[in-house]
Amino acid sequence: MKARESSLTRVLAVSGVVAAIVLLCAAIPCYGQNAPKLKQVRNVSSTNLKPPSDAIVLFDGESTDAWVMQKSKPPYVPCKWKVLPDGAMQVGGGNIITKQKFTDLQLHVEFKIPYMPQAKGQGRGNSGVYLQGSYEVQILDSYGLDSKDSDCGGVYKVSRPMVNACLKPGEWQSYDILFFAPRFNDKGELEQPARLSVLQNGVWIQNNIAVPKATTAAMKRDVTKPGPIMLQDHGNPVQYRNVWIRPLGPPTR
Ligand code: MG
Repeated sequence: MKARESSLTRVLAVSGVVAAIVLLCAAIPCYGQNAPKLKQVRNVSSTNLKPPSDAIVLFDGESTDAWVMQKSKPPYVPCKWKVLPDGAMQVGGGNIITKQKFTDLQLHVEFKIPYMPQAKGQGRGNSGVYLQGSYEVQILDSYGLDSKDSDCGGVYKVSRPMVNACLKPGEWQSYDILFFAPRFNDKGELEQPARLSVLQNGVWIQNNIAVPKATTAAMKRDVTKPGPIMLQDHGNPVQYRNVWIRPLGPPTR
């Protein structure tokens, strides 16, 4: 009888400790507790879009002539990224930039993230699309994640996507980006920061986000002048295809 009582006491004691831990965990604020869990959106696609008649085609599956290596000086080293037999170009040899510079624009770009199960976090299919050479919309394998501002669809370290519309690595995805360059007055003072809206795979993920300054790893931090589109080489074999742009606006100054 005594033995049964003592084991009952032990069970009650253990239950009490477990209940106390649960209550304590609920009471302690955890990282990201206030951020609602990101909705996962499925059945998305918007690839193989035909460029509109007024678009500048930056990559059509054959020629990389619109691009040069970022870390080179005029007259610039031609783009070293390989064009694969299926009409994709693959990251390799450094960042690339467009020869042309832009301010406000509409950009369509399709990308395929490699399957890298051994890699983690920022090392898993990392690349990125930089507007005006300064503002990155992140490319990363973020399929199924509760994405943060450094994950796919994030304006890097500025804004997380509104939903996770990522496809699996190995599938073609798209970004449609509307970019509004920063505005300055005659004295060179910032009147309005850059603004970005993004659709990933046809789903609205960034809504007119103000980006106060150039994001991490930008090629240039002076945002008063037009800049190129930059595609990032982060050491992972991300592929790109069907890249076109519709310049919309005037120079920033
Ligand atoms: Mg990146």
